[in-house]
Amino acid sequence: MQTTLHLTSPVTHLYGIGAKQAEKLGHLGIATLQDLIWHLPRRYDDFSRTVRVRELRIGEKQTVRGVLWKLQENRSRRGLNLLQATLVDESGVVHLTWFNQPFLKKQLVEGSELYVSGKVDLYRGYPTFSNPSFLSSADSEHDTAKSLHVGRIVPVYAETAGITSKWLRGKVKAALDAVIGELSERLPVELLRRQKLLGLPEALREIHFPTDAQLLRKARERIGFEELFYWQLRALMHKRDWQQAGKAYPCRIETEALRTLKSQLPFSLTQAQSRAVREILEDIRKPYPMNRLLEGDVGSGKTIVAAIGAYNAVVQGLQAVIMTPTEILAEQHFTGLSKLFHGYAFEICLLTGTGARLSSGESISKLDCYSRLADGSISLLIGTHAVIQEGITFDKLAYVVIDEQHRFGVQQRGFLSKSSGNPDVLVMTATPIPRTLALALYGDLEVSIIDEMPKGRKPIITKQISPGKRQAMYGFLRQQLDDGHQAYVICPLVEESDVLEVKSATEEVERLRLHELKGYRLGLLHGRLKSRDKEAVLRAFRDQELDVLVSTSVVEVGVDVPNATIMLIEGAERFGLAQLHQFRGRVGRGEAQSYCFLLSEADNEEAQKRLDALVRSTDGFKLAEEDLKLRGPGEVFGRRQSGVPDLKMASLLDIRLIKRVREEAELWVDRLNDFPEISAAIRQLEHQDIVWN
Ligand code: ADP
Ligand code: MG
Repeated sequence: MQTTLHLTSPVTHLYGIGAKQAEKLGHLGIATLQDLIWHLPRRYDDFSRTVRVRELRIGEKQTVRGVLWKLQENRSRRGLNLLQATLVDESGVVHLTWFNQPFLKKQLVEGSELYVSGKVDLYRGYPTFSNPSFLSSADSEHDTAKSLHVGRIVPVYAETAGITSKWLRGKVKAALDAVIGELSERLPVELLRRQKLLGLPEALREIHFPTDAQLLRKARERIGFEELFYWQLRALMHKRDWQQAGKAYPCRIETEALRTLKSQLPFSLTQAQSRAVREILEDIRKPYPMNRLLEGDVGSGKTIVAAIGAYNAVVQGLQAVIMTPTEILAEQHFTGLSKLFHGYAFEICLLTGTGARLSSGESISKLDCYSRLADGSISLLIGTHAVIQEGITFDKLAYVVIDEQHRFGVQQRGFLSKSSGNPDVLVMTATPIPRTLALALYGDLEVSIIDEMPKGRKPIITKQISPGKRQAMYGFLRQQLDDGHQAYVICPLVEESDVLEVKSATEEVERLRLHELKGYRLGLLHGRLKSRDKEAVLRAFRDQELDVLVSTSVVEVGVDVPNATIMLIEGAERFGLAQLHQFRGRVGRGEAQSYCFLLSEADNEEAQKRLDALVRSTDGFKLAEEDLKLRGPGEVFGRRQSGVPDLKMASLLDIRLIKRVREEAELWVDRLNDFPEISAAIRQLEHQDIVWN
């Protein structure tokens, strides 16, 4: 006799799931039946329609059914394992190739009948499926739940060792059948009707086992709508809250002083910078605190834009803070702004883990710094995140800048709330997010975009270097060094192990010292160095005591050494597009022509697309969109914490849907008291931030 099943039942209560499988499911975050039915497919194979081999069209995703012949295992010239075969039906022959998946051999039996699905390319003049998915039709005949696997649109799930999509299909189906009656609708009927959305039970069923393509689309729309709806509502609630909160220290616009400052800049602002400044000043004038995101590519000149706002606050006797993620960045801003504001009668202070320093160069104790902040004699404080968290009190804090944020959202406002008097907040990032996406994710932020580079910048020349050209590249590098320039060498990312990463960087610097870069001054930077040592290396590089900085990915953020003109990125295929672009942004910051050389080992189609994109474009916004297209928003954005079904976000590139959700959310933000399910769903989001991976 079976126990009755509930949403909260452990998966082991389901027929055919023992302790072993339960443990494996655990790796996918699945413990209960509820988790199981919310394990949404990552993609689908369309086995609903098969065509004959002769009807295959190049470049399209299609399914054929035929008999497998001539299975061979080969090695490509580049050393990849190749499984090659042909598939024959009564109309013709098509080639099949799988790269580096020798284990598939066991499932491929000559003479057996297969469904094969994928995109068909022309390879050496023959239509060929590369890495197609396939299904043995004999297999499916014996399968009692055959209809789950063939003759339909078939779900493909995130898998883990020992758990295949095929196995999951059966279990998800059983779970759905058992508990779907318990699944309650969370969205109000009124909303479902107005937006013509499927009900939750139907949507979940269709998303796993679509009746047809149209119902699948409706199902995804429904799930996507709901996910976005909560995020939007949360953002609107926060926006409402902080718009109701007044500023403790309202700020005027000091037109005269600003004009003087601008006339003293060593350059004139770009149009995009001026526009951003205007938008910031308009916010400052408002009765409620600013909450603005300033997006601009690396080197687009965000610092001065932020500094103008700080200056405006400081000249009227208020205080401002600029926060950075690293000490070296804080120091860089401190040096730059001390120079810019030289001769003005206000005090600037640098506060980091190591101590405090005034713009006069005088070191003061941290306690001294705190008391000068509390009595208002320090006007502008620059430092790492610690500056604002450690119970520091200000006299009149009016304006806060958070530089180089990869995480945004409502969180950072938390510690700037009542006690600090609700200052205006400007968050800056060089990881550009398309505006619509920003609206969807951080609907409580206003967005300014600097989409123009200062005049006279020479675009960085980016090239992918084949192994045969490596020595020639080092020759070119030495030439640049001999001309007095400097270079970065970025070492490959080692997933999950910064120990190995450090090891490989250490070996690389030794190797270069002995061989290609013998006689040059090399420094090493990695994440395991103490922060004081890190700073020392960076400082030495900045002061041109080093010719080459060999580094792991830690160099990514904000370092500004205009004399560095060359960057080599080893193992470039391992980095994401956004990150590669960040690295590259370390060069091309001065007058001289700069170069970025990409070295990659693996032969990976996806990675190659990223590298091609990087070679083609230096526009961070374009690359961000490309990244989203290549990887999908679900991969690009990670979340810090889990606990609710993951945001699938398949719909985040769908501007029309985002707008619809936004409009709908505005109708509900003031009615939430009557809808506890919605409020509960929003509360679950409360401690989650989105990170650009
Ligand atoms: P990011 O946006 O990456 O933070 P920065 O603010 O560090 O860029 O600016 C990069 C460099 O460009 C700095 O050396 C800065 O002085 C310079 N810069 C900023 N704005 C302009 C401009 N309008 N014209 C010329 N140079 C500028
Ligand atoms: Mg910057």
